[in-house]
Amino acid sequence: MKFLVDAMLGKLSRFLRIFGFDTIYANDLIDYYHADPVPDEKLKQFAEKYDRIVITKDLLFYQKMREKALYLEGKGVYNYLNQLKVKLKLQLKFNIQNARCSICNSPLQEVTDKNLIKNLVKRETFLNYNEFFQCVNPTCKKVFWNGPHIVDINRKIQNMTEN
Ligand SMILES: [Zn+2]
Repeated sequence: MKFLVDAMLGKLSRFLRIFGFDTIYANDLIDYYHADPVPDEKLKQFAEKYDRIVITKDLLFYQKMREKALYLEGKGVYNYLNQLKVKLKLQLKFNIQNARCSICNSPLQEVTDKNLIKNLVKRETFLNYNEFFQCVNPTCKKVFWNGPHIVDINRKIQNMTEN
C-alpha cells in the first residue's frame, strides 16, 4: 500500500514512512510541478499514475478523488493513525529494518561499522547505541536508531490500540 499525503499532513507523512509505508508528501512535489501548492488536479494525476492512495483532510479534494482516497477527520497524528488503522487495516508496528527515511522516503540500510556514521550523530548517541541504519539516498543519508523517540511512538501506538 503506497500513499500520497496532502499538504496539511506533513507529520503523518513522516510517521507513515517510519512505519515502513512508501509515502509521498504533496509538498515534496512542489519542485517537480513548479507549483506551490501543488494543484489538486496534479496530485490526482500523480496518485493515479503511481497507484497511490490519497490521504487528505480536504473534503473537496477527497470528493474529486472518489475512490482510492481517504478523508481524515479531527486533529492529531495519533488520531489520524488510528483512522488509517481502522479504515485500511494498517499494521502499525515499528520495525527499523522495514522503516523508510522520514525525510525523503528512501529505504534504510543497516550501518555495518558504526564508525562510518560517527560524525553524523551526537557523541552520546554514538556511545549508547550499536545498531544504526542510514538512508540510502546519497543526498540525504540521514541516520536512524532505536532511540527514546521510537520507544515513545510505540507506547502511544499501543495506548491508541487499547482505547
Ligand atoms: Zn533520506
